[in-house]
Amino acid sequence: MANYTTIIGLEVHVQLLTNTKLFCSCPNRFNPDNPNVQTCPVCLGLPGALPVLNREAFKLSLKTAMALNLELARFTKWDRKQYYYPDLPKGYQTSQFDLPFSSKGYVEFDMPSGELKRVRLIRAHLEEDAGKNIHDESGRGADSQVDLNRAGTPLLEIVSEPDIRSAEEARLYLEEMRLLLLTIGVSDCNMQEGSLRCDANVNLHIHENGETIPTPIVEIKNLNSFRFLEAAIEYEVKRQLGQWEKERKRLGDVDAPKTTRGYDPDRGVTVLQRGKEGAADYRYFPCPDLVPVVVSEEELAAIRATLVEFPSARRRRYCDQLGLSAYDAQVIVNQGNEFAAYYDAVVAICGDGKLAANWTTQDVLRQTNDRRETLAQFPVTAEILGTLLSKVAKNELTIKAARDVFAALLAEADEEKPISKERIDAIVTEKGLATISDTGAIDAVINAVVARNEKAAADVRAGKQQALGPLVGQVMKELKGADAKVVRQMLIDKLSS
Ligand code: ZN
Ligand code: MN
Repeated sequence: MANYTTIIGLEVHVQLLTNTKLFCSCPNRFNPDNPNVQTCPVCLGLPGALPVLNREAFKLSLKTAMALNLELARFTKWDRKQYYYPDLPKGYQTSQFDLPFSSKGYVEFDMPSGELKRVRLIRAHLEEDAGKNIHDESGRGADSQVDLNRAGTPLLEIVSEPDIRSAEEARLYLEEMRLLLLTIGVSDCNMQEGSLRCDANVNLHIHENGETIPTPIVEIKNLNSFRFLEAAIEYEVKRQLGQWEKERKRLGDVDAPKTTRGYDPDRGVTVLQRGKEGAADYRYFPCPDLVPVVVSEEELAAIRATLVEFPSARRRRYCDQLGLSAYDAQVIVNQGNEFAAYYDAVVAICGDGKLAANWTTQDVLRQTNDRRETLAQFPVTAEILGTLLSKVAKNELTIKAARDVFAALLAEADEEKPISKERIDAIVTEKGLATISDTGAIDAVINAVVARNEKAAADVRAGKQQALGPLVGQVMKELKGADAKVVRQMLIDKLSS
């Protein structure tokens, strides 16, 4: 088996969340059931129709570039990328070639090992999407149709350097990209609907006799799920390794051009599609119908002012300032903005980051899943949970008592009773859940329990630790709100004196 390194670069395509298309006022909406209803002379490519740039799409692009640490160009222009395909009515795609609006950035994410991985970005540019060809694959006929609803919708292309070293890293990179795009609200990132899809460029560096030999690059097109991305790359690495051992073809050999393959999820294999065009085949030239864009400092400052805390910064804040583990920070941030904001609000009230993390990632997540509720619908608001947990933090309630209150609050909400943070104290009183910090009261119960259980007490005195548990249990039963740790210690103190 050859010694090798896997080399991967990803091209991510993101549909931007605008009301209208990139160069016309047709709606930008996923609407596969009503083909060809969102079209006009511009996006149908009719002669004489003139495009006008959608400013909102350009703003969302700048916002994304800021989140991806990209350098922003002050002058950018549009180019025609010529190729013929039935879903591209104009015969060219309006894209950006030599002067994209951004270049040189990076994305960072945590590897399972705890190591911080940085993937550099070559560029991000804005372009229009093509329509969609729909092929009848029943085998009964050769029926192909074209839906141009998507033609001309704004698409951001984000190109990475080949810094990714495994299928897993590729998935983590795309997951981080999705989280970032969702956090800043520029795309719905719906992968089934094609709002986020990627192409993976994969080859191997074979290490042999002190030499590193790159194999021909393969581009796997249009991967629209994390699972397919990972599986396609894993398959491709094995396939290329087999090819290398059979043919020993290197990157740059005239008989080994870059090729394009598609992933077939049913068979779990990649399939050859075509030899890949180079830039020269596209005959790019500046679009004469669109004026170049000049970006002002004022415009950039206005967009920068709308940015929220990015996932990487949020994870760092949770670990460094709130003392969370990397895992807990990841779980909270991965749930998205709304959940992280709920968590932040709970911490702001109860002041204990770890306690709030345990409750939100376990109790709250479990309940919202079971109840099929969004956080906005969930009756225990951050204010209520924060108030409840502040009582735990102040040792006024045990964890167990707090769980009882939490369950009681949800039960009341299910009976359509209004719940608020004021209900907490009432429930604690009604159910006698308050932590008994009065050691005199605990002492009295301990004395009574010890008197009733002379045998067990003698066993503990004789060093049989296992006899202690039942005694603690009996005391706890009588003193609902007592802290088991305190009771245990008081019992030990009593029986060892
Ligand atoms: Zn249109
Ligand atoms: Mn593209």
